[in-house]
Order: sequence, then structure tokens, then C-alpha cells
Amino acid sequence: MDIKDYGKHLSSPFLKKALKIHSDARKFMGDFLKEGRDFIEIPPVIISGITDPLNHPTTKSQVEVYGYKYELTKSMIFHKQIALHTLDKIFAFSPNIRLEPEERKETGRHLIEFTQIDVEQKNATREEVMDLAEDLIIYTISKILEKDSDILDSFNRKLSVPKKPFKKITYTEALAKYGKDFETKLSKEAKEPFWLIDIHIMEREFYDREDPKRPGILRDMDLIYPEGFGEASSGGEREFELEQIYKRISKKGQTPEQFKWYIEFAKEYGLVPSAGFGIGIERFVRFVCGAKDVRDVTLFPKAPGEYFPI
Ligand code: ASP
Ligand code: MG
Repeated sequence: MDIKDYGKHLSSPFLKKALKIHSDARKFMGDFLKEGRDFIEIPPVIISGITDPLNHPTTKSQVEVYGYKYELTKSMIFHKQIALHTLDKIFAFSPNIRLEPEERKETGRHLIEFTQIDVEQKNATREEVMDLAEDLIIYTISKILEKDSDILDSFNRKLSVPKKPFKKITYTEALAKYGKDFETKLSKEAKEPFWLIDIHIMEREFYDREDPKRPGILRDMDLIYPEGFGEASSGGEREFELEQIYKRISKKGQTPEQFKWYIEFAKEYGLVPSAGFGIGIERFVRFVCGAKDVRDVTLFPKAPGEYFPI
């Protein structure tokens, strides 16, 4: 964003109201998890020797600290698993840095700096955390409709509380029916959020658990917004057995060396079975407000490929 456009952005009544929704969304999400479901909020991690490889190419962003290289967090997935050695149900409002390719600048959905609410539960199944995510979304939207209906009216945004259970479509089914661009097409057609489940092994990261009964299919899911707003969330059950982790890392053409400290941790202390998900806050606010671009609801918007030094 140009500094001249930034002045207009900062003084826009739309941004001001969207930031109120953002602030309320965080409160309601936090309240739901903490007070409703006994989750503990943990602080986010910004720099680490281990972070999410992500399934798509991003440029590595590193800082040097005392002569050692740390990566900036792309997602707290590994830290969520590690935190479950101490606590059973956790979440964080986690700032993520993902240096996405420049082509993603105009998708309306990508920022290189954003926050996600990252949730993880020990010994949970995919179905349990899907149910939890549905309740979280339903609670948050209901509370926003209760508290901020004047804002939504001023945006001319008609939003209704989604009904449980959300519809599910398998990756295989979606691909067969709609081709490679299935997510965009399905999102445009949909009137309510829906799940994409059973994603193929090569389409996700090594830490999503392979279904023991259906090799090649993962016990994972994405949540997709309706009306063309696209992906809301990714999540799933996690690999926790070291042998399986080695196998999956090599299947992705990666090396254990790339995840040295994660592997060291797992060798020393083991990993516990868990499932969880992450919901991008800015994307959620964009959907609630019905905004064209995620930048329109973000105070300091940094788009892929752009230098925005504020
Ligand atoms: N690692 C996921 C993401 O940030 C979130 C999750 O699976 O919990 O995309
Ligand atoms: Mg995702």
C-alpha cells in the first residue's frame, strides 16, 4: 500500500468498524474456548528453530540472534503439539509471517503478516475438533450479530448463524466434480460454511495424520467460507509416532535435518496424539464484514510482494 493511500485507509469508516468486529471476534472466540470449553490460552511464539513447512512455496524469513538462525513463525503447529505435554486443551492468538508468492497479492485473502487462532486438543479426534470449530464459529457469529448488528447493517451485510453440522465434501469428490479449482467454485456456490475432508497425502504437510485404514488419505480438514470467501481454516489429527513422521517427511522430499529440533524433541520426550485447527482472524473478519479484500479490514496491511514499511 502506498503511503498516500494509507492515509485514506486509516481514516476510512469501514476500517474503523471492521476493527471493532475484529476486537469483538477475538473476545468471543477467547471466551468460548476459555469459559465454555476449559481451554488455556498460551502466548504466541515469534521466533524458533522449527516452524510449519506449509504445503505451498513461501520464502523463508529468518532472523539471526546471537549468531544463530531462527525462523519467524509460519504457524505454531509444532509448538501446539509440544505445549500438550503440559496442558490438555490450548489455543493462542498467533501472529504468522508467510512470505507468499507475489501472484497472491490480489486474491483478497492473503497477507504476509496475519494472526490465527490456533487450537489444539490432546487425544482428540478430527470429528471432535470439527464439532468444536463449528461451535466456535456459531458462538462467535451469534455474539457478533447480537452486539454489532448496527455495524453489519451499515455495511449492508446480511449474515446468518450457520447451522450444525456443516456439510462435508471429500477431497476426492470435490476434485472429480469440479476439477483443480474446486475450492473457489465450491466456495462461490455455497450458502453456508462447509468442510473439505480427507485431503490427499501429498496435498498437505507431513504432520497431518494419515488414516491408518485408508493409506494416502489424511485425517484432516479445511473449513471453507461460502459466497466465494474461500478458506477459513485448516486442521486435522496429527502424526505422533516418530517412524511415521520420518516416513512422511521423506515422502514430501524433505529431510529430518530440516526439522532437527522437532525431531530431537520427539525422540527425547515423544509426542502425544492430538487434533486441532487454525482460523485466520483477518479472513474471519473479512467474511463477517463482507469485505472485498482482507487488506480492507486490517490496520497495517502487508500484501504479498509488497514493501510496506509501517
Ligand atoms: N497448521 C495449520 C495452518 O496454519 C493449522 C493447523 O493445522 O492447526 O495452516
Ligand atoms: Mg490451509
